[in-house]
Amino acid sequence: MICPFCNFEYDNSIDPDCPKCNRKNISVSINATIDVEVDLSYRGKSNEKVNKRPSFEFKGGNELNHRLNRKVDRTYHIDRVNDRYTENVTDKVTHELIQTVDEPLSKHLNHGDAKKKK
Ligand SMILES: [Zn+2]
Repeated sequence: MICPFCNFEYDNSIDPDCPKCNRKNISVSINATIDVEVDLSYRGKSNEKVNKRPSFEFKGGNELNHRLNRKVDRTYHIDRVNDRYTENVTDKVTHELIQTVDEPLSKHLNHGDAKKKK
């Protein structure tokens, strides 16, 4: 290392004392794994329209699952051409598939949670 006090270069792993100015220079190595939580989300839709709605739509990303009280990765695909709705919810921690939906879109919309009444 280079002594910040006198700019003398020496190996402080053997002796922390600078041989030139006698000041201690202890370098600290940090071996910590930093768990960075990145919230990613993506969405898209096709320009082609079916009944004035995009023929294909998808959305995915992290969201808080209130039932589990932790982050989950939720993705869904809407296919209006084939009348298909698919949804996957994956646990962010265990990567376990919590929920999977694969059903006709028309059936899904009649569930009620996709179409909230005002
Ligand atoms: Zn020094």
